[in-house]
Amino acid sequence: MLKAKYIFVTGGVSSSLGKGIISASLAKLLQARGFSVTIQKLDPYINVDPGTLNPYEHGECYVTEDGAETDLDLGHYERFLNVPTSQANNITTGRIYQSVIEKERRGDYLGQTVQVIPHITDEIKYRIKLLGNTGQFDFVITEIGGTVGDIESLPYIEAVRQMKWELGASCLVIHLTLVPFLAAAGELKTKPTQHSVKTLLESGVQPDIIVCRTERHLSQSLREKISLFCNVSPSSVIESIDAETIYEVPLLMRDEKLDLEVLKKVSIPAEREPDLKRWEEFLYKLKHPASEVSIGLVGKYIELRDAYKSIVESFIHAGAANDCKVNIVRIHSESIDESTVGSRLQNLDGILVAPGFESRGIEGKIIAIQYARERNIPFLGICLGMQCAVIEFARNVLKMVNAHSTEMDKRTPYPVIDIMEAQKKISGMGGTMRLGSYPCQIVKETLTHSIYGKVQITERHRHRYEFNNKYLQDFEAKGLMASGINMKDNLVEIMELQGHPWFIGIQFHPEYKSTVACPHPLFVGFVGAAKKSRGSSSAI
Ligand code: GLN
Repeated sequence: MLKAKYIFVTGGVSSSLGKGIISASLAKLLQARGFSVTIQKLDPYINVDPGTLNPYEHGECYVTEDGAETDLDLGHYERFLNVPTSQANNITTGRIYQSVIEKERRGDYLGQTVQVIPHITDEIKYRIKLLGNTGQFDFVITEIGGTVGDIESLPYIEAVRQMKWELGASCLVIHLTLVPFLAAAGELKTKPTQHSVKTLLESGVQPDIIVCRTERHLSQSLREKISLFCNVSPSSVIESIDAETIYEVPLLMRDEKLDLEVLKKVSIPAEREPDLKRWEEFLYKLKHPASEVSIGLVGKYIELRDAYKSIVESFIHAGAANDCKVNIVRIHSESIDESTVGSRLQNLDGILVAPGFESRGIEGKIIAIQYARERNIPFLGICLGMQCAVIEFARNVLKMVNAHSTEMDKRTPYPVIDIMEAQKKISGMGGTMRLGSYPCQIVKETLTHSIYGKVQITERHRHRYEFNNKYLQDFEAKGLMASGINMKDNLVEIMELQGHPWFIGIQFHPEYKSTVACPHPLFVGFVGAAKKSRGSSSAI
């Protein structure tokens, strides 16, 4: 094991250039060369974590094994590396300030004025080095959220400057910029990159490598121009051209020799080529599907590209595993009612009802589930999606009029979904749900058992409400069975419908655990069932 090297990834010119994907791709290349790598995201906003942000603000909230509610980039890190992240991998300004203020109140700085420099920057550096000091990683890649020049990023850039000064060649900075193509001029423009590097230089940070996001190839002369104006060698100007899929980016970065450039700068000999055989096989399958299916994604954040990120990526992994392209048809749950359900859900080979909170769109989700149940369409309900399946079954099969979850209707006569005992005394919102990984025991000889192929599993959770065990016998008598139980707290984690080809609701989030190397069995099984359903309906 080497002493950890620190790689910072900053961004300039514009947001959404793909710092997370570049970080994950570099990490993948280094991992494929045999190094152990972790990736960390520093977010400059004041929320202590993104758990309290609604998806309109920041896309999906990703959950780690140890129950951190994090930025969705951590999902990319795990999906690329197949290595779990943790609380230490996502730090916000809110968390930094919270711990500095706690220390101040404890008296740790007694006598001193507590300031951004050195106290905030020291706390940032401490959080970065924490991962390096575990002794587990050869490389710690730290992605700095936001764009250089933002007021709120300044303490982070200052921390990077100090670390570069203190650690010398063990530390390097990759700056990601945009090289726009101006149609009127008919050429790519380097000026925004030059300005962005100057902004970084104003804070005392010289980037070592510049990655240029572009829609056209960079010529040698353009690379030389960026090299000359930005003080980096031409080989350190890396092209990041728009890709068909994010999973192609590691290969594009390999072709651009980003990993070799990094190794050269931290003086580590490149002993072998990255072994990306399995990655390439996955990519081949992704690009050459033998069949296709259409799966309806029913949710209330349908218009937001990033709201169901991990679900969409899980379908990509499961599609490749099934040699099948998954066309996701996004359906707004508020657009579904008794009169529209037939037209909205027709021609689907599977229906997934998404996780969520609060009552908006809930009735549309319930109607969609009834449609899937009655027409034998493969169905997967995740978290709120599972809870809606329980409500639908209670109302329409068990004839429990106005059955509901107490999250939506406190006075329902049939609280088939109810707040968990442990949640009743909690009043604060941040980080207080049932979060992270919990064990679940699967009932043998169920569909769930055949999907997982084992009895003991662990899955990640993010919820406050649960199936109400008071009604379990009623449900099981009519065929909606508990097929996965948390034995310690006696919580129903998985339900499946007997007599239906594939109908499963899960209280946890399998999408957080699907990776390129290990597609999640539930998604693989669901896509397989959708394929079968398409086959049988086209045969009719
Ligand atoms: N709102 C539900 C609960 O808290 C479901 C949460 C979810 O879908 N993540 O239990």
